[in-house]
Amino acid sequence: MVIRALFLSCLMLSSLWSGAVSAQSRDAERMPVSLIVRGDYVLTMEDGQPVLTDAAVAVVGDRILRVGPWEDINARFQAERVLPGAGRIVMPGLINGHTHTSMTLFRGMVDDLDLMTWLNQYVFPMEGRFVTPEFVRIGTELACWEMIQGGTTTFVDMYFYPDTIARVVDRCGLRAIVAAPHIDFPSPGFKGWADSFAAAIEFVTAWQGKHPRITPAFAPHAPYTVVPEHIEATARMAAKLGAPVSMHIAEAPAETEFVFEKYETSPVKHVAATGLFEQRLIGAHMIQLDEEDIALVAERRVGAVHNPTSNMKLGAGVAPVADMIAAGVNVGLGTDGAASNNDLDMWEEIRLAALVHKLKAADPTAIPAPVALDMATRMGAAAIGLGDQVGQLSAGLQADLIQVDYTHLRHGPLYDVMSHLVYVLDSQDVQTTIVAGQVLMLDREVLTLDENKLRKDVTRIRDEISAVLGRSE
Ligand SMILES: [Zn+2]
Repeated sequence: MVIRALFLSCLMLSSLWSGAVSAQSRDAERMPVSLIVRGDYVLTMEDGQPVLTDAAVAVVGDRILRVGPWEDINARFQAERVLPGAGRIVMPGLINGHTHTSMTLFRGMVDDLDLMTWLNQYVFPMEGRFVTPEFVRIGTELACWEMIQGGTTTFVDMYFYPDTIARVVDRCGLRAIVAAPHIDFPSPGFKGWADSFAAAIEFVTAWQGKHPRITPAFAPHAPYTVVPEHIEATARMAAKLGAPVSMHIAEAPAETEFVFEKYETSPVKHVAATGLFEQRLIGAHMIQLDEEDIALVAERRVGAVHNPTSNMKLGAGVAPVADMIAAGVNVGLGTDGAASNNDLDMWEEIRLAALVHKLKAADPTAIPAPVALDMATRMGAAAIGLGDQVGQLSAGLQADLIQVDYTHLRHGPLYDVMSHLVYVLDSQDVQTTIVAGQVLMLDREVLTLDENKLRKDVTRIRDEISAVLGRSE
């Protein structure tokens, strides 16, 4: 009995020993990487939109090293950290191509008004009264917290005090194009166009090439708030500095009427005539476009950002998205500011983009699910000029990716991953958000912003605004 036990324990020891040796030699052969993100499904959003099953993404530093079946990734690489993938879809982080982050603090302040009444009677006066660097810091933090929670990894911002915005982006870990607004009227901190444009130049110069996740840009507000001579000046400065430009173009019938009355042309042709179409331009909204406008936008490689919720809420019209895509325009998706949405949830934009064009065209084949997803990822990245960095899970690109849980019973069963992502899953299903290889949210906990402090700051600002609006709650 004793001999038998000894023999058995020797056998066990030797098998343990040989197991350890083979694991050690295997580890020695495997290349060290910083992070491996696993998923039951991995949606790369590369050409052909392949969906890999039981796959993983290997990350070194801020970049994707390899995407492939888990067996292959596990055989090649040894990671400091592996994020499990059971019940999860891995995909590129979402790209919000147009927003005004700090307007989160105006969320639900006033609703159900037309664009010009909403802007002139509420938004502009309240901005004049409340928008300070501190307001922008808190509003941007709130927006970033919401975006990280919803799986947005890149956004294009257009708001006052861009330097403050850029500092929040630096701290919270997201990626952003931060566009400095200039407008012909007085705005927070400025008397008019001259000083706001000078500050925009200063901001772009100060941040350009300084931060791997932050791209500074110019933002002439819109054709109805900036005269053509001033848009020309922006175009010249953007060319000189090689900076992108973000601008509202053809965002409402009132704008189109204004431009036709004053300049006898369409908003698209009007802005094109200033030279801005020769720059790296991100056109937000792009609703009132005719065939000639679409051809011009396609030819000049202007990126378009579709904001379905905001357009619906402000009754601004339905952008000709299917026609733009057919003409070769890169069309991305955006939330616009939270005051006209009223959130920064890209999943709603994806779903509405897939639905509203079917309704308008009375055609259920318009903007199918894979195209709507493309607009929020690969094509959205191309629309904002970052297609060589983000939007797909490909070797060499930035490691901006998310894990989405698909196992909740209310969402079952799953037949088609892309259909599920577009028509079923929501921002609450995002479990992990990673930007440049850094985990910003794990199991729905945002790791880079202090939720409790933020809640206190937001409540304080809300009380101040409510007091001015004469509302006690
Ligand atoms: Zn906007």
